Amino acid sequence: MINFEFAKKEMIEIQLKRRGILDNRVLSAFESIPRHLFVPEGRIENSYDDSALPIGFEQTISQPYIVALMTQLLRPLENDIILEIGTGSGYQAAILSKLCKFVVSLERKSELVSFARDNISKLEIKNVQIYVGDGTLGWKSNSPYDGIIVTAGAKEIPSALISQLKPGGKMIIPLEHKGYHKLTVVKKEENSFVKEEIIDCIFVPLIGRG
Ligand code: SAM
Repeated sequence: MINFEFAKKEMIEIQLKRRGILDNRVLSAFESIPRHLFVPEGRIENSYDDSALPIGFEQTISQPYIVALMTQLLRPLENDIILEIGTGSGYQAAILSKLCKFVVSLERKSELVSFARDNISKLEIKNVQIYVGDGTLGWKSNSPYDGIIVTAGAKEIPSALISQLKPGGKMIIPLEHKGYHKLTVVKKEENSFVKEEIIDCIFVPLIGRG
């Protein structure tokens, strides 16, 4: 029988804190969300491993450190409205739900939307809305967003996402570079944006019209 509570604490200490995830709000969010509720039954014993895991439909739940790093870079505030592209299991959305006012999350695969909605409802999280949609086009009705997090690798920054971000807001997005991705922070200014590359990583591809 696996002690998930112990595995979660170890994940936070070894995989997150030792690699520089030191934002206490982010660490508390990881403490409060049981990752094993977002992993399919067959892989549940690996839930707190230092790796991405398959969730079916050729998709993955991202490595804990990458979820934490993206969240720490986004630095969502209590009253923020955040757009996530690529719901997958719903784990990233659940983490964000503890840090901001409202999360809109888009997923192109309807089977994963059902999986993620079930996972989120087990925890009685009420401030996450998950929709089936092409995230490269964004989700206009709740825009502009204080922050956007894209959890699939993009060839370029979708222009709809830039236009749905508030001036002063941040987008975290893995951008394609020679067969892998560069995790990038995009800061929107009044009429332009600046990019900062953080680390190399590998994501499943962002597939969409925009
Ligand atoms: N954030 C997820 C989690 O916490 O489990 C992990 C996401 S997984 C690495 C990337 C997801 O992006 C996949 O579920 C994939 O189907 C989705 N995706 C790819 N292109 C998309 C698009 N254009 N719009 C919405 N979702 C997309």
